[in-house]
Amino acid sequence: MTNEELKQFKSAISITAVAQSLGVEVSHGKCRCFFPQRHSHGDRTPSVSVSEEHGSFRCWVCDDVRGDVISLVQLLRDCSFVEALDWLMEQYPVLVPSNARRPVITQNNSGPRNAPSAKAAPVVPPVETPLPEPEEHELISEDERKKLILSFLKRLSPVDNTPAAAWLARRRIFKPTWDKMLLRTITDYSALNNSLREEFGTEILQHVGLFNEKGNLRYYKHPLIFPYLDTGRRSFYFQARALDRETKPKELCLRGTVPFPYNMSALDQKPGWIYLCEGVVDTLTMIGQKINAVGIPGVRSFKVSWIPLFKNKNVVLCLDHDEAGRSGMEYIGNLFTQNGIRSVILGEGMENLPTAMKEGQDINDWFGGKK
Ligand SMILES: [Zn+2]
Repeated sequence: MTNEELKQFKSAISITAVAQSLGVEVSHGKCRCFFPQRHSHGDRTPSVSVSEEHGSFRCWVCDDVRGDVISLVQLLRDCSFVEALDWLMEQYPVLVPSNARRPVITQNNSGPRNAPSAKAAPVVPPVETPLPEPEEHELISEDERKKLILSFLKRLSPVDNTPAAAWLARRRIFKPTWDKMLLRTITDYSALNNSLREEFGTEILQHVGLFNEKGNLRYYKHPLIFPYLDTGRRSFYFQARALDRETKPKELCLRGTVPFPYNMSALDQKPGWIYLCEGVVDTLTMIGQKINAVGIPGVRSFKVSWIPLFKNKNVVLCLDHDEAGRSGMEYIGNLFTQNGIRSVILGEGMENLPTAMKEGQDINDWFGGKK
């Protein structure tokens, strides 16, 4: 697992659910300290805050009782970082990147190190206080990075009359949706490659993830660009799509984690239904049918901190109808339930109708899109 994958894995896990599954009673973001003997009255008034939004916990009395979901498991299961991560991967197989069944992690706090038992009063702090994440050496500030992404997107063409338009139309995604979601395409790869290199230089472009190791724009085979618009219709994140069948992977995500679901402006906090789709194409299909929908690249990129965005919504889960999609829907459905948001699985209870989604189908297939 790379550091990026580890970050993503952690942010998809509900720290409250993990604490509860390990026998800790969490109520309104609070629980009793795991070292009650250090507190007066055995910490009758809970001193530990648990933040779903930040995926962290902290005791307001014990300096050493704090950290992220992995530190929590280390503390409660009295184990090392690697053992805690292994345990979490076993509990949440649906969130484990497919190429990372075994954790291969170089991290300063890894290695066999047993925390003293939570039952005995420890003389030494039971966990090392997790260090703040090391800042990746910053070639450019976050503001400059955003400006660069904006500048990249501004150089692209609308999809009209391009191969991307034909590709979308075959999937029954038409111009009103292209315009609404500001879909873009790369028409002249070489010119774009050169103009970016001249203005920003290869090193910066590689650093933000637009250029590959060879010093060229990554999207030679992925010319269709889906910008993730924020509520102000600006975009600092996008996905790129291949138009041919051979290219693998079909989609490339920009480096870094997904900032918010695709089409987040549909999450307007007003009462109503929202469809949660897997992938941009399925989301665009729904939008084309005038159905309120948001998209995530996959269940692993869903973040617990996004749950407040879904306030006042009832969610219809429409991940792919396959094994992975089903466990994903179950996982996300539970997250919503724990947070008081109602969710249903698309088509559940209607499996025997002739119109039901078939095994392996996605939303776009179901609406008649051609691959
Ligand atoms: Zn404490």
